[in-house]
Amino acid sequence: MLAAPGLVASGLARAQPSEAGFLPSPDLSISPEHPPRFIAGLRPWRRGTFRLEPGVSGDKLVVHNYGHGGAGITMSWGCAVEVRTYVAALLEAVKTRKVAVLGAGVMGLTAATLLRELDVPVTIYAEKFTPHTTSDVAGGQWAPSVVEHADEVRFRRILRNAWAMHQNLGAGFGVSARDNYTFRKANELRYAALSGAAEPQQLSRLPFANITHDGWRYPTLLVEPPILLKRLSENLQASGVEMKTMSFKGAASVQALEEPVLVNCLGLGSRKVWPDEALHGRKGQLALLKAQPHLKYLYSGIGYLFPRQDHLVVGGSVEYPSTINEDDTPDPVMGMQMIRIVKAVFDGALPLPPWLAGAGGGLDPDS
Ligand SMILES: Cc1cc2nc3c(=O)[nH]c(=O)nc-3n(C[C@H](O)[C@H](O)[C@H](O)COP(=O)(O)OP(=O)(O)OC[C@H]3O[C@@H](n4cnc5c(N)ncnc54)[C@H](O)[C@@H]3O)c2cc1C
Repeated sequence: MLAAPGLVASGLARAQPSEAGFLPSPDLSISPEHPPRFIAGLRPWRRGTFRLEPGVSGDKLVVHNYGHGGAGITMSWGCAVEVRTYVAALLEAVKTRKVAVLGAGVMGLTAATLLRELDVPVTIYAEKFTPHTTSDVAGGQWAPSVVEHADEVRFRRILRNAWAMHQNLGAGFGVSARDNYTFRKANELRYAALSGAAEPQQLSRLPFANITHDGWRYPTLLVEPPILLKRLSENLQASGVEMKTMSFKGAASVQALEEPVLVNCLGLGSRKVWPDEALHGRKGQLALLKAQPHLKYLYSGIGYLFPRQDHLVVGGSVEYPSTINEDDTPDPVMGMQMIRIVKAVFDGALPLPPWLAGAGGGLDPDS
């Protein structure tokens, strides 16, 4: 019998265990009627730290905001708060009070949203818009994973602001309170409690019928990118922010813009304008299965499982930075392997047998 996993509800509704004390297990069988779809993206990962700072580029004043790796959705609002402060100061130094946001992923859309509060015209320029950005590929867990930082105080401030804003926006922006169950102590999930979530709890057994392993419950948020990005984009357009399709090919291309103040949210594409040897793409893949709306929790460990409204998302692959990996083509073999591994976990294969643990080599526990 399970050592009562008694869930503590905090904020929005969380999963409740059944009478037996177990949460429902996912159905990870592959059905020919609903084959999984595989998608992939390149996390804009920057060695040493993400970049969030003002600077000068030719005739322009620029705030750089890129390199958030596997944590862009998580950090977005917190970074947007810092961007707003920098831009407010830069606007004091220019005659034409207009701002261009370069990039329309989560960083560009959240920054533009808060810049509207400065009451200046804001235009977004990008090659691709939602649903075609890397941000649209994100799984959607609130956890600062696969991101480096150099200033712990600032990192925590950004995360606290980000947490508060995501939580305040709530369901209409795709945000739900969720517990993440994992069989390991997870540093990146620890930041949730440091930012506003309830404290994690150690469990003598994870609350799933076939898993007899001990583990942890980390209260966190699920932020569903398809809902968030669509809503932000619609709100910006409704408030008069223009979105222009443009492809920047080098430093000269941004000098031609009419706005004197630029916010660089180009993600990995930033390298095309401002070369940066620390910035690399770290490929990640997701398998999208039919939605299972009765699942109200997240799992992570070897691979992850994020039940969202649109899909049951299986993911967790992180490929290491190298120019040969800078290709965002999905790999169905890796996708099927991720499903098999997460299924094995829920079927009770923990601790994983060596052959399966080895097969999980591409699945980074910190993804
Ligand atoms: C598989 C996977 C799972 C992930 N899961 C999570 C998660 O659970 N939680 C989380 O917080 N994060 C997650 N991430 C990370 C997250 O997706 C990124 O950190 C985030 O998308 C970065 O946002 P961005 O706005 O900086 O970049 P992007 O979303 O890439 O946006 C960049 C924008 O700049 C534009 N652009 C780029 N180059 C040019 C150019 N030369 N000219 C004009 N426009 C240009 C693009 O068209 C786009 O509009 C995941 C990523 C992957 C790949």
